[in-house]
Amino acid sequence: MAQIVLQNVTKTFKDEEVVKNLNVTIKDGSFTVLVGPSGCGKSTTLRMIAGLETQTSGDIWIGDQRVNDLPPGKRNIAMVFQNYALYPTMTVKENIEFGLVNKKVLKEERKKLVSEISEIVGLTEYLNKKPQYLSGGQRQRVALARAMVKKPKVFILDEPLSNLDAKLRNQMRTELIQLHKRLGTTFVYVTHDQVEAMSMGDEIIILNKGVIKQVDSPMNIYQDPSNTFTAEFIGTPA
Ligand code: ADP
Ligand code: MG
Repeated sequence: MAQIVLQNVTKTFKDEEVVKNLNVTIKDGSFTVLVGPSGCGKSTTLRMIAGLETQTSGDIWIGDQRVNDLPPGKRNIAMVFQNYALYPTMTVKENIEFGLVNKKVLKEERKKLVSEISEIVGLTEYLNKKPQYLSGGQRQRVALARAMVKKPKVFILDEPLSNLDAKLRNQMRTELIQLHKRLGTTFVYVTHDQVEAMSMGDEIIILNKGVIKQVDSPMNIYQDPSNTFTAEFIGTPA
């Protein structure tokens, strides 16, 4: 587990500053939701935390380690995206196990991890199937399991449910909240949907045009929005 600290983090693409001087602490073990309109810099912020993008200036800390110069593989973070790419020729079990390939985990231990985690995400019956025979929700669970098997300190999820239909999305929201409770790991979850944000997060970061507008619990944001952007954004359905 680990808290994440962003200090004066800025990102410029060509001459456009898309993320502006972010200062925020993401609490250890929290389910933190980063929410804001499309194009406001959510994915860029996540990618900088994961090390897939380098900040133009500022510092990023994960736990007590400043990670500015650490490659993604050394940050102990697992990412789940909207377009979760599973390997079509591999079975569910092989897809999950693939998360361990570069980790030099012994075969017996790999087997134990895969069975433990497939149990948690409800995939035990599907381990020998290929992804094409799974539903969207099951595929999303495989993507989660592949991330979980690495036992990361932090989970980063970038709009992971946006390809699912409304019913499945609701179910997966609940499952993700339960998963977070069970693991106790820090989750950083990105969505542009304020209803999703307010129903899932225990801490919300509201971003607009690369600027943090408010950081607080859903209750406090709802009852006491600190600016008109927040008030209007939270008050409007997606
Ligand atoms: P969000 O995830 O909130 O929709 P992004 O972080 O993807 O927003 O993008 C923020 C802004 O940065 C957008 O204007 C986007 O076009 C721009 N952007 C993102 N990635 C790149 C890139 N690799 N090169 C240039 N511009 C980019
Ligand atoms: Mg995005």
